Amino acid sequence: MAVHFHEEDLPAGVLTGTGALAVDTETMGLATLRDRLCVVQIADGSGDEHLVRFGPGSRYEAPNLKAVLADPAREKIYHFARFDLAAIHHYLGVMAGPVFCTKIASKLVRTYTDRHGLKNLVEELLGESISKQQQSSDWGGPVISDAQRDYAASDVRYLHRLKDELTVRLEREGRTHLAQACFAFLPARALLDVAGWAEHDIFSHM
Ligand code: MN
Repeated sequence: MAVHFHEEDLPAGVLTGTGALAVDTETMGLATLRDRLCVVQIADGSGDEHLVRFGPGSRYEAPNLKAVLADPAREKIYHFARFDLAAIHHYLGVMAGPVFCTKIASKLVRTYTDRHGLKNLVEELLGESISKQQQSSDWGGPVISDAQRDYAASDVRYLHRLKDELTVRLEREGRTHLAQACFAFLPARALLDVAGWAEHDIFSHM
């Protein structure tokens, strides 16, 4: 088990297997059009995490990473996919589906709580603890610290196991079909965000 750090793209031949991939992003902030994509984290569930860092002025070419993210045969597991899909689509130009979102799955089955953060899920469902201390750090600097690398990797480390547990609970509560419909809509939801409907619920009457 190791964290692998790459600049500007995945090396050829990395993560070329089959099966679901856990994906997360770190950016300069929450406004996708303003705040550039700095890191894409990706893991295949084998215990290794890959971090791809994009520097200031990056052209985001990354053909190997884009091919893996755009592969329609491989499910991508996110925690709050809506944000990551928008950032990946805006900066890398690919829609990184099909999607499983652990936050949406959690909202559909953990109706007894409003705590749907990744840290909460990892603690309750897996009995592990992760630190969110580096969440608000500067991902755009020349050097990514060891603490930042560990944090970025931990954000994709547990997503396969969370998906397995949440899938059982969705089935138990009879909400698998609802989850699948939400996941299928997520690419459109992400495109609506960057097209100007971020703060607007298009399903509301108003
Ligand atoms: Mn993250």
